[in-house]
Amino acid sequence: MSHLAANSALLENSAGRSAASLAGATRCELAAALAGTGVPEREIRMRVAQLWHWIYHAGAKSFEPMANVSKALRTTLAQRFSLARPQIVAEQISSDGTRKWLLRLDLVDRQDKGAEVECVYIPESDRGTLCVSSQVGCTLNCSFCHTGTQKLVRNLTAREIICQVLIARERLGDFPGSVPPDDGRVPGDGLRAVSNIVFMGMGEPLYNFDNVRDAAAVISDGDGLALSRRRITVSTAGVVPRMEELGRETGAILAISLHAVRDELRDRLVPLNKKYPIKDLLGACRTYPGASNARRITFEYVMLKDINDSPADARELVRLLKGIPAKINLIPFNPWPGAPYECSDWGRIEKFSDIVFNAGYASPVRTPRGRDILAACGQLKSETEKLRARARLAVHED
Ligand code: SAH
Repeated sequence: MSHLAANSALLENSAGRSAASLAGATRCELAAALAGTGVPEREIRMRVAQLWHWIYHAGAKSFEPMANVSKALRTTLAQRFSLARPQIVAEQISSDGTRKWLLRLDLVDRQDKGAEVECVYIPESDRGTLCVSSQVGCTLNCSFCHTGTQKLVRNLTAREIICQVLIARERLGDFPGSVPPDDGRVPGDGLRAVSNIVFMGMGEPLYNFDNVRDAAAVISDGDGLALSRRRITVSTAGVVPRMEELGRETGAILAISLHAVRDELRDRLVPLNKKYPIKDLLGACRTYPGASNARRITFEYVMLKDINDSPADARELVRLLKGIPAKINLIPFNPWPGAPYECSDWGRIEKFSDIVFNAGYASPVRTPRGRDILAACGQLKSETEKLRARARLAVHED
């Protein structure tokens, strides 16, 4: 099929004429879709519950197997809708078992040039964490982040966020009756492959608030994907005005990308700091709904050699966090081509971690995962964009 033909087929899908997908739909969207096919009002609740169970509990990819839905309705649904998910363009498996998927999204309108996002699965012995993206690209331009060098293309829909979870569960054999991959490392027996979700992929989740909130609601709904809200973490670079709402409306665990303890430095690392400085950010953390010793706020701190890694920085960090139920996640800087920083020396990271730990905070150093497939923190970036960025760089270097 030519490029053009492929594109127009996708456009028809996204325009909803022939086969808009209901994979990743919220309860409201399912109800609207059913009402649109003429399902009587009094039946809608029950039908939504049935579809919900098949899509999210059973992982159905077509209407066919939905034995408790009448044949007539299944046929009508199949004429108008599909359960298609974004296409997997590439699947990479790291030597440490981390997996990264590059997904191609449907076109949203005629101007859409086609977008791709990455999502990463990190297996550990007691859990499996899926790191999902909330935007294609990012507006924040953090100077140490590879994703940040990619311009914002668009927000993901709630459906596209949820589909990342469906795709991962399918590939990992996490739906009832599906088979785990033979080469795959997943958590120990009896544990779900995807047990935790972190919004730490591409994008700033709080700049796509409504869709992140709706996605979190579907992911935590007990009749479907059924992940407890305590197992959903939303990471923000510090969009202060949306933080309270996030806690109130999603009950998610909060993570803050702090990275610096002085405004002058944080302005350079995380330019959003110029709008919402450290004092305001920590103020919003102090009042984050539901934060407690059992539900601590995670502070992420990337270790940049000779930039933010001194013992004085560690002591200042401890002082700043006083009174906040916190844990501190030290992230060794993951290098990427052309990055203007280096990772701190191991001894320096240890010293920093000791100071924080001795002050009474958990201070794990995040083991870099999936570095060999550029799946580690801040390394995500869609292939097409990488090429474009390289082209831009080449122009600048001339
Ligand atoms: N925009 C949100 C969500 C992205 S989370 C946020 O900033 O929190 C991605 C995490 O990886 C952030 O903590 C980010 O600061 C960190 N990160 C980005 N680039 C990195 C790199 N090269 N090495 C290590 N961590 C990085």
